Amino acid sequence: MMEQTFVNGDIVRVTAPFLGEPENVLGYVYDEYSLSGNDHGVSVITENGCDLGGFSEDEQEKYLEFVRKSKYHYQFKNVIQLDRDFDNQIKPLFACSCERTGNCGC
Ligand SMILES: [Zn+2]
Repeated sequence: MMEQTFVNGDIVRVTAPFLGEPENVLGYVYDEYSLSGNDHGVSVITENGCDLGGFSEDEQEKYLEFVRKSKYHYQFKNVIQLDRDFDNQIKPLFACSCERTGNCGC
């Protein structure tokens, strides 16, 4: 088990290129899920709105670095809704580091 598990609302740095996104792009953890063997998976969407999908604990350890907590807990329903919600609910979180939850009018 890894020491740091990421949770919904965390802003992370993605340290390798995925799906055409550059390395070191910022991402937002929009969902958490359980995998077999108590592995704690998280799903990440980048600051550009690219859904990278799930990262197992091994993948989190390899590819994700913690940046800060946004304190905004997204209620994930499905990827279509995620795409609709991104501009209003998630994208503003990357622009600030004030740790309000108002996503984010500062
Ligand atoms: Zn703010």
